[in-house]
Amino acid sequence: MRTYFLAFVALCDIEAGEEISWDYETTEYESIAVLECLCKSPYCRGKTLGFKFREQMLRDRYGDYIADYLKTKRK
Ligand SMILES: [Zn+2]
Repeated sequence: MRTYFLAFVALCDIEAGEEISWDYETTEYESIAVLECLCKSPYCRGKTLGFKFREQMLRDRYGDYIADYLKTKRK
């Protein structure tokens, strides 16, 4: 069994008590369960498929703020 540690970085200020969300596709190469997203963001893609399906868009949007192991991943 492998253990992974994730560091979360906020891309904007967070108010106390504010609900936060996380873009699963910045940490998962391929989602094991395609989920309907409930984030309510105007940029929501609707379902979480995984990094491999949206690699360029995610790299353009988040730059270095993706999981380290995805930075070197190639299809
Ligand atoms: Zn969403």
